[in-house]
Amino acid sequence: MTPDQQTEDQIAALDVADPLAGFRARYEQPEGLIYLDGNSLGLMPKAARTRMARVVEQEWGQSLIRGWNDHDWIGAPLRVGDMIAGLIGAEAGEVIVADSTSANLYKLAVAAMQARPDRKVVLSEPGDFPTDLYMLEGVVRTMGQGRRLELRQGAEIKAALNADVAVLVLCHAHYKTGAIRDMARLTAAAHAVGALVIWDLSHSAGVLEVDLNGCDADLAVGCGYKYLNGGPGAPAFLFVARRHQDSLVSPLSGWMGHAAPFTFRDDYQPAGGIARFACGTPPVLGVSALEVGVGIAAEAGAKAIRAKTAALTDLFIRRVEAGPAAAELTLVSPREASARGGNVSFRHPDGYAIVQAMIARGVIGDFRDPDIARFGFSPLPLSFAQVARAADLLGEVVSQGLYDRPEYRQRARVT
Ligand SMILES: *Cc1c(COP(=O)(O)O)cnc(C)c1O
Repeated sequence: MTPDQQTEDQIAALDVADPLAGFRARYEQPEGLIYLDGNSLGLMPKAARTRMARVVEQEWGQSLIRGWNDHDWIGAPLRVGDMIAGLIGAEAGEVIVADSTSANLYKLAVAAMQARPDRKVVLSEPGDFPTDLYMLEGVVRTMGQGRRLELRQGAEIKAALNADVAVLVLCHAHYKTGAIRDMARLTAAAHAVGALVIWDLSHSAGVLEVDLNGCDADLAVGCGYKYLNGGPGAPAFLFVARRHQDSLVSPLSGWMGHAAPFTFRDDYQPAGGIARFACGTPPVLGVSALEVGVGIAAEAGAKAIRAKTAALTDLFIRRVEAGPAAAELTLVSPREASARGGNVSFRHPDGYAIVQAMIARGVIGDFRDPDIARFGFSPLPLSFAQVARAADLLGEVVSQGLYDRPEYRQRARVT
């Protein structure tokens, strides 16, 4: 046995010593399942069941229109935004829950372009989560007047920063590899040429420690249904640093971002503060479910969450690489835990079939084109024992060729 192959007792000791162990029981964990897809759709917090029952039966069913005031539905986007703020290094009043990540990126990108009217370029990176680039294409197409999207990779990003760049848009943690960008350094480099930066925190909030204000960040967006466990299609969030709030204006100037929505005036007056980045009526059921997931993460705290993310992903990588499939799998995630988020991805030409064979055996990961088997490590629900078992199964499935069956090659619509 190599030092990397810890015994069952050693793994059990990790779970005993885990300061976050108590949080595992707060999530619904389907019998016989090891869920390594919390980076795509987080597990359901058990308390979501009672919360949703109350929202539906009492708040919606009985209170009806009175719920906006009596249950503070109207305040929910800012209330939950304040809770998220604590997880990402922002202050209360700098985050609001609204819309989808895609729509929020559009709002902030247009607002940022309009704040730099003489600059034509949105700079971003190819190969990250595609909706971000699709939305930015739409931003430059809609705004016109010579505006364009430029894509640069890695070290070339800094080299492409110049006085024509209005806004740099980057994902903090990469959705496929989990690689983390240096938020402080890239933000400073963009500021040095007078550009703004939008950070996408979809693979960061709830799994990493983020320090937006410590990095002097301008703007950010992020997802509610991944590591924040807000449920399928949960609303997203956005961050605007306080210093920018009164100078940026949302292009989706809906009534919920109006200074006084219930005066029903004909002209648009943006609200003061973060509220102006709301658009339409908040999805109360969705925000209520999100509040449960965010509340648990806030209780655990980003620092402890981040430490467990590093420990779980380290264990998985070490165990897979000490196991029987090491020679066939290529790690595409950073090996250093400090450079890695919650994803661990391995490349294999039969990545799709491998993931299907694991799902058939009770370990859910996912596949990302063209050849990446991706495993997401949601730190609060997972135990070290589950992670060790998943690593052992991956070793078995690959080394024994258990994936090599036609039914595991059948592609579904959603991968
Ligand atoms: C998951 C994710 C999104 C999701 O966008 P939606 O509009 O909620 O579908 C956006 N960006 C990144 C980087 C993501 O990982």
